[in-house]
Amino acid sequence: MPDTNRQIRLAARPTGELQPSDWEHADAPVTEPGEGQFAGVTKMISLDPAMRGWLDDRPSYVPPVGLGEVMRAGSLIEITESNHPKYAAGDHVVGAFGVQEHVVSDGKGCVKVDPDAAPLATYLGALGMPGMTAYFGLLDVGALKEGETVLVSGAAGAVGSMVGQIATVKGCRVVGIAGGPGKCALLTDELGFDVALDYRSDGFKKALRDATPDGVDVYFDNVGGDILDLALTRLAMKARVVICGAISQYNTETRHQGPSNYMALLVRRARMEGFVVFDYARRYAEAAQEIAGWIAEGKIKAQEHVVQGSIDDFPDTLQMLFRGENVGKLVLELA
Ligand code: NAP
Repeated sequence: MPDTNRQIRLAARPTGELQPSDWEHADAPVTEPGEGQFAGVTKMISLDPAMRGWLDDRPSYVPPVGLGEVMRAGSLIEITESNHPKYAAGDHVVGAFGVQEHVVSDGKGCVKVDPDAAPLATYLGALGMPGMTAYFGLLDVGALKEGETVLVSGAAGAVGSMVGQIATVKGCRVVGIAGGPGKCALLTDELGFDVALDYRSDGFKKALRDATPDGVDVYFDNVGGDILDLALTRLAMKARVVICGAISQYNTETRHQGPSNYMALLVRRARMEGFVVFDYARRYAEAAQEIAGWIAEGKIKAQEHVVQGSIDDFPDTLQMLFRGENVGKLVLELA
């Protein structure tokens, strides 16, 4: 066993965009598992837009990462040694193990996964937290019904690509919003979206109007800002606006931009509701089973973007989310 555990720790509270100086690259000793614990080596780290929010010292659904602490992250590890009755060496486990090469855990909040049933990255994407987010956000919060029109932003990302595909499985018309012609082509040509709109192109507003002649029944918002505001102008009667995230706002140094068109909710008798996927933790197994079935039937494609590198590549890989460089679930696979 190596004697150092490379870690990425929070060195400074960022303002605005993340800087390399916000991170400390540190070496800690590798520790042995105690009674009721296991030790493992990190195989893959999940990169999530929410990580940016965890660095701000403001009230949220989880406490901020402390200065000097190992960066919080979901990851997939392989167990190397176990003193835990439910886990054995060789098991693959997903949990909130942080950005570090070696892990010791008591297994709380962890899920054992089967590396023969799906690619490892899928357990951080379609069968992991983003898949759960899409599933419960769309079906539970969005109360989706067959035949409705769904609009989703961040559509080529981890959550958005699943939202659109689940809506297609449910017999809905799906309009996706994404950045760039390549992502839009993927949505319509490979993921079954009916229409894909490039929000960076001229004529985007008109294209959105043309693509939603009868309005939008569910708008699943991953980005906030101007796109949320525009989407509010397209609501059908009794529409549901699902507030999943607002990546366009995460790096702003001032207050988040709110929607000025919110009176559309009144006019259209619509509702807007936010949610946090962790509230559905007890139902994850149910959702994962259904999503795995759709993947097996070829109805859904698990879209992953795997970057190979070392733990030191975490800061730059995280920035790919904010530069729009990922297609599907962004994962750092440790070589
Ligand atoms: P993702 O969509 O895979 O990656 C982020 C994408 O956001 C980028 O690829 C980029 O795509 C887009 N983007 C970046 N900056 C943008 C901007 N200024 N305006 C518009 N789009 C921008 O990330 P994800 O993991 O699936 O997360 C999507 C959203 O869901 C995030 O807001 C996240 O915080 C939220 N989320 C919420 C929960 C919950 O429990 N509520 C759980 C998981 C995730 P383009 O190239 O298309 O711009």
